[in-house]
Formats: sequence, structure tokens, C-alpha cells
Amino acid sequence: MDFKFTEEQEAIREMVRDFVDQEMRPRAQAIDEEEKTDFNIINKAAELGLMGVSLPEEYGGIGQGKVGFCIFVEEMSKGCAGTATAIGCHQSIGAMTIVVDGTPEQKQKYLPDMAAGKKIGAFALTEPNAGSDAAAIQTTATKDGDYWILNGRKQWVTNGPFANVVTVFAVTDKGLGAHGGVTAFIVENTFPGYVVGTKDHKMGIRGSESCELIFDNCKVPKENILGQFGAGFLTAMRTLDMGRMTLAAGCLGGAKEALKLSVKHCSERFQFGKPLAEQPVVQQYLAQMAADIYSMESMIYRTAAMADNGQKYSRESAICKLFCSETSGRVIDTAVQLHGGLGYMREHPIERIYRDCRINRIFEGTSEIQKLVIARDVLKKGGY
Ligand SMILES: Cc1cc2nc3c(=O)[nH]c(=O)nc-3n(C[C@H](O)[C@H](O)[C@H](O)COP(=O)(O)OP(=O)(O)OC[C@H]3O[C@@H](n4cnc5c(N)ncnc54)[C@H](O)[C@@H]3O)c2cc1C
Repeated sequence: MDFKFTEEQEAIREMVRDFVDQEMRPRAQAIDEEEKTDFNIINKAAELGLMGVSLPEEYGGIGQGKVGFCIFVEEMSKGCAGTATAIGCHQSIGAMTIVVDGTPEQKQKYLPDMAAGKKIGAFALTEPNAGSDAAAIQTTATKDGDYWILNGRKQWVTNGPFANVVTVFAVTDKGLGAHGGVTAFIVENTFPGYVVGTKDHKMGIRGSESCELIFDNCKVPKENILGQFGAGFLTAMRTLDMGRMTLAAGCLGGAKEALKLSVKHCSERFQFGKPLAEQPVVQQYLAQMAADIYSMESMIYRTAAMADNGQKYSRESAICKLFCSETSGRVIDTAVQLHGGLGYMREHPIERIYRDCRINRIFEGTSEIQKLVIARDVLKKGGY
């Protein structure tokens, strides 16, 4: 076992850290107030190649693999979780469907522009009547000559307001259900019948815009079927393996930022004639936060290395998502506590970080759904 990052991975971390210090962290509070994705930051990230960190080099990406992408997401999430969500979603569940299941022609057509940040990706599975029960989707696709006609509504689509390339999951054979009856389509925002609906107003990650997408007799060329016909659910699940692991890396970044802010605050804030950091109870809190962070970091990079080595990692990815979203929630809650009243004030970043982290227990499959995935696996195997 070798738990050392390569020189290239360390270099990526340094580069992203600088980018976050200069471009993201200073803007995070304003972005939260504005509730808008900051395209100034996205464009600067694109200039540095950071819109294609996870995408293969042959299609213009940096080809960093899963470990490198987790490093990238971890660092970005320290500065601004909303912006990190927009950029991370573009690459992890946005473009990754095409990397995972696209034909060589589809990869050549879409990935170079996505890696360059010229086209933004999104993933549209959830509907008003199909959240955790994704198999219950009602959007339909019916064949009409050389086209498929999509009808239905998707909701809470991250990057939806401005995405150019969206993977849309639709029912192609109701009788076959999720396995065999759902197909994935690559849908461009310029296709006739593609309508951007109402933008969402959210508790946190406000630098990540999401909205409803409506497909009103939307005409999709037949060559835009993604992956095998009827196997869209498999595409979704394989893509979410990657999404869930990198989402956990985002949780790690948020928790590290919260600990750093807490150490600073507890060292500078005097009560009872000495810094808070000298109080044994406060030290216990800080120690627990560090222990939690070490656990998260260990499982994320172990899982990412497994994925890079070509091993199966669905169960491990679900464990990372469950553990890291729940644990970072606790770490960040402790950070608010350690800041006292200041931690409750909008002027302090910890208040935003607290709101930002809450979504991690919900999107890309709730904690309860991760438990179902993990339980199914251990029951099948008779243990761990
Ligand atoms: C900000 C945001 C961004 C999002 N971005 C995207 C996106 O880009 N693309 C996309 O497709 N979707 C997206 N989603 C949707 C997200 O993945 C879903 O919200 C999530 O999967 C949960 O579905 P739901 O909200 O309908 O909750 P529900 O399914 O209604 O669940 C409500 C509660 O019941 C629990 N529950 C449900 N079923 C069970 C069960 N069998 N056993 C135990 N408990 C259960 C859930 O865990 C949850 O606690 C986004 C959501 C949000 C809020």
C-alpha cells in the first residue's frame, strides 16, 4: 500500500489552492448573496483547464483520474461550495455520462468543448414524482423517424439554467420498467421543445443554480441515444458512483475549512482570561473534528484509488457519500458552536458553510438511500 500522492497530484492541489485563494474564497460571500453562478470564475477556471480535470486527455481534459478529481473537488469546496458544485457537477455527473457510455463519435462531438468549458453539462433524472424512487420517472421518449420525441419535466437540475449538454433519462418501454425500459439521451439546449423552467431558491450552495427543465415534444436525433438502448438506468447508476465519491470529497473540503476557521477563532477569542483554545472542552471538540476529517480523507482517497485501479467501487462510493455527508455535517455544526454567536451571523463564513453542507445528505441519493444500497450489498455478500 502506498498512500502518497504523486508529484502531479500535489501540483494540481497547489494550483487549485492558489485559484481558490485568489478567485473563489474572496467572492464566496457575495456569490451567496447574489444567488448566481459566477461565470467570471468559471471562465478563469476554463483558461487553466480546470473544467476538464476528470476528462480524458484525448478529448482535451487533464485526465487526472478519480484521485486527482477528488483532490480538485476537495480544494474547490474549501473556497466556495456553490461554485464547486457547479464546476464539479459539470464534470462528474454532467460530462461523465458521455465518458462512461458515449460512442467514440459522441465523445468527439461533445467532450472537447465540455473540457474547455465552452459547453456546460448537466444530469436530469429527478422529476416531481420520482426522487429517491428514480425508477418511477414519467418523462417519455417515442420514436418518430430519425428522431426521438421527449415529453416530461425534470426538476432541481443543477446547472440547468445555462447547461448546453444535458443527459436526460426517459421511459422508452413502460412495460419493461427501470431495467430495460429507460434510455439516456444527450440533449442540447438548442433542440426544439427544450424549455428552461423556473430557477430554484435554495438554503445553501447558492452559487450553484438549478431549475426545472421541460421537454415539450423535444426533438432529439436518434444518434443521441447514450449507451445501450433501454440501459439508461445503468448509465445513471455508474455515473452516480463517481458523483457520490466526489461529493464526499466536497464534504471533506468543507470540513477542513470549518476546522481551520475554528482553530483560528479559538486561538484569538479570549474568554475567562485566556484563549478558548486553552479550554479542555474546546480542545476535545477540535480533536474530534480532526479525527473525523482523517476518517473521511482516508476512505475517500482509498476508494478513489480503487476506482483508478479499475476495481468495482459502488458500495464504497455509497459508504463515502453516507459517512462524509453525515460527518461533515457534525464537524461544521461543531464549528458553528465554537464560534458562538458569531457563527450565527451572516457576516461570518461559517454561517454560509453550515447552510452549504446540508444539501450533501440529500442530493445524489439521500443518506437513507445510501444505506439501502450498502445494506443490499452486505446482505448479498453475507457481510463486509
Ligand atoms: C439543490 C439540489 C440539486 C439537485 N440536483 C440534481 C441534478 O442535477 N439532477 C437530478 O437528477 N437530481 C437533482 N437533485 C435531486 C436529488 O437527487 C433528490 O432531491 C434526491 O434524490 C431525493 O429525492 P426527493 O427530494 O424527491 O426526496 P424523496 O424521495 O421524496 O424522499 C424524502 C425523504 O424520504 C426518504 N425516503 C424515500 N424513500 C425511502 C425509503 N425507501 N426508505 C427510507 N427512506 C426513504 C428520503 O431519504 C428522504 O429523507 C437535486 C436536488 C437538490 C435539492
